[in-house]
Amino acid sequence: MKNKDVPNEALLLGADRSEMKDLIDFYLNMSTNEDKEDLYSMARRVRDSNDGPRVFLRGLIEFSSFCRNDCFYCGLSVRNRKAVRYRMTEQEIVQVIRNGYAMGFRSFVLQSGEDPYYLAGRLSELVFSIKSLFSDIALTLSVGVLNSEQYLQLYQAGADRFLLRHETADEEHFSKLHDANQHFSIRRKSLETMKRIGYQVGAGLMVGSPYQSVDTLTEDFLFLRELSPHMIGLGPFRPHINTRFAKFPYGSVDHTLVLTALCRIMLPNVMLPATTALASCDIQHRADAFRAGANVVMPCLTPQKYRDAYAIYDGKLSSSTEAAENVRFLINQIHDLGLSAEMSRGDHFDFRERKSD
Ligand code: SAH
Repeated sequence: MKNKDVPNEALLLGADRSEMKDLIDFYLNMSTNEDKEDLYSMARRVRDSNDGPRVFLRGLIEFSSFCRNDCFYCGLSVRNRKAVRYRMTEQEIVQVIRNGYAMGFRSFVLQSGEDPYYLAGRLSELVFSIKSLFSDIALTLSVGVLNSEQYLQLYQAGADRFLLRHETADEEHFSKLHDANQHFSIRRKSLETMKRIGYQVGAGLMVGSPYQSVDTLTEDFLFLRELSPHMIGLGPFRPHINTRFAKFPYGSVDHTLVLTALCRIMLPNVMLPATTALASCDIQHRADAFRAGANVVMPCLTPQKYRDAYAIYDGKLSSSTEAAENVRFLINQIHDLGLSAEMSRGDHFDFRERKSD
């Protein structure tokens, strides 16, 4: 027996706070497998009819594990004395892009901790030289919270997109996950500023982070609806042994999948990755994410010798299937689901007119 009509875009766009909460509560806590399957099938239909049955690949380069912040969930926190710190040189980063380009990638993501070495200006120089060398690629940054001038400088240097997960849209919840210098209001302002500058922006959160509740998730959905970001990253929380959240439970894969599907239905054109955190639970969950409406995947191109040191959580998928040499496997996984694998820039729908697809 089905309990609930599958929500459509209009319902999610029109829902008030209490209706949104009921919906999230239902899919997290009361839905049957059949309800979930119906939701996923709706999410697939929305993806396929808006932007086609396809998945965009982006090469991920984790270029520095240095970080000045203390995010309580993250293994790269400045407080983790046991973390192995590395910083790739500009030349190494360019070489990885060169190799990825030769494999066909036209979209790259540069991710790091908040590393003062690069944030002091070297990152814009790097972005500028990468874009001069490879003019037809899209470059995404995921380097944390900066000030407006820095966002502008990086954009002017050639960065196309910026991923900055808001983590939680509930200020009190946010303060339970971060040091006192960080606030949700700052993340919100950052995301709004980046949007105004012209970036394609990505927000997102960890599913099942400590102290998360249906109420905080409701705030997340209201926030995401209002911001309407071009990308949303959703991955299950995974405890890291050298953080203060070491003993908290893993986030639920099922919850991640239903929230992914709800995002797809609410924002039909949004870019939704099947995240590494999800694939780290089991490589098959990447396929489940595509079945729930995801349309992006970011295989790791970080050189093997650095990969284990970029340990934001324990048991991160690394050497075997996220490796560049296994991109083939990934493409087959995508084809097996009847989807096409795209290595183009993969701009959000709203940016296709300006820059080629
Ligand atoms: N320094 C950058 C990149 C952080 S890593 C930034 O602050 O944006 C990218 C994402 O990994 C984070 O935004 C967070 O949502 C996720 N992450 C960090 N620790 C995690 C953990 N223990 N489990 C699951 N996801 C985690």
